[in-house]
Amino acid sequence: MSGPHRVLQVGCGPTGTSVLRELLPRLVDVPLAYEVADPAVMGPGLAFSTPWDLHLLNVRAGRMSLHATDKAEFARWRRERGLGDEDYPPRRVFGRYTRDVLDEVLRESDATGHRVALTRDRVVAARRDGQGRWWCRFASGRAAAYDRVVLALGHLPSTRYCRHDGDPGFLSDPYGGLDVPGDARVGVIGTRLTGVDVALALRERGHRASVVLASRSGWLPSVKGRVETYRLAHLPDFVAAGVPGATSLAAVAAVIGKEIEDAEGGPVGWARALSPPPSSAATLRAELAEVASGRVVGWQSVLGAVVPWVPALWRLLDERSKQLLMTAYVGVWAVRIASFPSVSAARLLAMMDDGRLTVRAGLSAVVRDGNGFRMCFADGSAVPVDVVVNATGPGYGRGSLEAVELTADLLRCGTIVPHRFGGVPVDERTFEARDADGAAVPGLHVVGDLTRGVWLATNAVENSVRQAADLAAVIARDLLSGSCTSRRSPGT
Ligand SMILES: Cc1cc2nc3c(=O)[nH]c(=O)nc-3n(C[C@H](O)[C@H](O)[C@H](O)COP(=O)(O)OP(=O)(O)OC[C@H]3O[C@@H](n4cnc5c(N)ncnc54)[C@H](O)[C@@H]3O)c2cc1C
Repeated sequence: MSGPHRVLQVGCGPTGTSVLRELLPRLVDVPLAYEVADPAVMGPGLAFSTPWDLHLLNVRAGRMSLHATDKAEFARWRRERGLGDEDYPPRRVFGRYTRDVLDEVLRESDATGHRVALTRDRVVAARRDGQGRWWCRFASGRAAAYDRVVLALGHLPSTRYCRHDGDPGFLSDPYGGLDVPGDARVGVIGTRLTGVDVALALRERGHRASVVLASRSGWLPSVKGRVETYRLAHLPDFVAAGVPGATSLAAVAAVIGKEIEDAEGGPVGWARALSPPPSSAATLRAELAEVASGRVVGWQSVLGAVVPWVPALWRLLDERSKQLLMTAYVGVWAVRIASFPSVSAARLLAMMDDGRLTVRAGLSAVVRDGNGFRMCFADGSAVPVDVVVNATGPGYGRGSLEAVELTADLLRCGTIVPHRFGGVPVDERTFEARDADGAAVPGLHVVGDLTRGVWLATNAVENSVRQAADLAAVIARDLLSGSCTSRRSPGT
């Protein structure tokens, strides 16, 4: 094949922006035609284009740099613009920063003669032909051929409760504007970060009627306390000595437990850690009082330090342990690791205290009832609501892959397969998708949350940036050595 190497990047949220930033400077000497397709505003992606002031970062700003090595970049960017120095600023501030980073990347790329083509079109299909080219089709009907495709699609939708999609009064997209009458009783399915986002957006809109946040567990995320940089004493050696695929979950829990004991100076209360009671105004108040004491929260400091090690720990686990984690413990892990800022918790508590908000456990079903719905609970009670918002968060299974036109098409053709632990399997070195036989699909790279089953930790910006840097290194090496995988003949 002659001419420039043609790349299509599908999706340009924080992950796609990082891929561009890491990759383009490495390819200045490579004849390249790079196109980026995304119908949404490029840069912020889903999480950081929220218009609501009350939607804060859920990760400390100090860990939100889009630069792979300059961890202070976001803080500096805010300082230069006088945009405050709180640990948890509104998420849209980070969105502005991603937009600025993207603009800078595109300007620099222009200056080196690589103009990136931006397409505000959704990609709906991708097929590989006999010459190894990827034929991609867009929602507009356009089709074009590429040597390489990078999928940076972000979170897939959850399909739980999707049977109500399209019902009047059922909002399947919790970020779609929340156009709800102020006097409508609202039921929110989900009590984790997305559910909290819905409650806070309703508060900011001045919603007057009752809101019930409900899930099976009834657990709100943990409240973020004061954390300190924690130096892991046991885990690095444990990982170095571990045999991939042969370590039990109990052994991993024990080593993390040892770190927590060191940090807290006492034994870990596993029973309470693994089965907290459903959240209530009282439990939230107690957590906030603990945070207000200013005491360093040892377990949170440790978990913060453990996050970058999650992919390595996940690799060590044996299959039974992976299965156990994803069935029995994934919920409690999520509420501990994806905690929320105390400012948001205090706002939620104020809503609970003035009777506008209730958090309920034991949600068993949501059923249509006249013009509204009934939220049904395991204890036999039911709460009538006028509007339901599906805030169950991202989805990872086959149903979620089938719910998105592009991934549904790739599934149908057997180009990708569902990973049993979520998303799709990819080659750990090249990020190329793996087909049903486990063979790498040449020239189809996948980054971000779609790779969850492979690395587990795929839904924080710092993970996206790391993946983007690794992928960029692989693609650049490939192109600069002239051994471009996508030019291999099919089947090799
Ligand atoms: C509510 C919420 C809050 C969060 N808060 C934080 C936080 O505070 N800190 C943190 O580190 N992480 C946070 N996260 C996780 C965060 O979203 C991820 O870490 C990261 O931002 C995901 O970026 P992304 O680019 O992979 O995905 P996205 O931001 O979702 O971007 C994907 C892009 O792909 C585009 N796209 C998808 N399909 C197609 C297609 N077929 N054709 C063309 N374009 C397509 C979409 O339009 C979108 O713009 C949060 C997530 C959510 C949902």
